[in-house]
Amino acid sequence: ATVTRINLHKIITEVLSFLGKEPEYRSITIKIDIDDGIEDIVSDKGKLQQVLLNIIKNAFAAVEDGGNLGIAVRKAGSGAVELSISDDGCGIPPEDLAKIFEPFFTTKGGRGGTGLGLSITYGLVSELGGTIRVTSEQGKGTCFIITLPLTMAEH
Ligand code: ADP
Ligand code: MG
Repeated sequence: ATVTRINLHKIITEVLSFLGKEPEYRSITIKIDIDDGIEDIVSDKGKLQQVLLNIIKNAFAAVEDGGNLGIAVRKAGSGAVELSISDDGCGIPPEDLAKIFEPFFTTKGGRGGTGLGLSITYGLVSELGGTIRVTSEQGKGTCFIITLPLTMAEH
């Protein structure tokens, strides 16, 4: 694996700019909130980019024009950071919550959904030595919480 030093604010803004001007023309407000004293992490940049891309793309698809996306980074105990990506979009029905990380589960039939984004994301996060979980309320929004080690163990 290609393990490098990664500045979390930088990788988040890079992924957002890669995703283009959709937030601007749809008036989606994005708030990035990084705790003071968050150090660079040592991880696989390509995999982390893919993870952020998949989750943020889903959030853009879930929110209405004028919606909100929040990306926060906090310290999670010693040796770990927690990234949370929350939106105030449509939310996920309780009966779907257990299925969203399964390959090919999608509610975007006919609108370009492959249902692979989150299953790939789940695998990538575990390759990074982290965990991912989700909380969601229908009609209110969704929050993905990713915990990553400050230094990824190399295999
Ligand atoms: P796809 O985006 O191709 O449908 P994903 O694996 O990325 O596949 O996501 C699976 C499903 O999880 C989506 O179809 C959607 O129903 C649900 N989902 C994922 N993220 C969100 C979100 N932020 N808000 C609401 N639903 C979501
Ligand atoms: Mg997706």
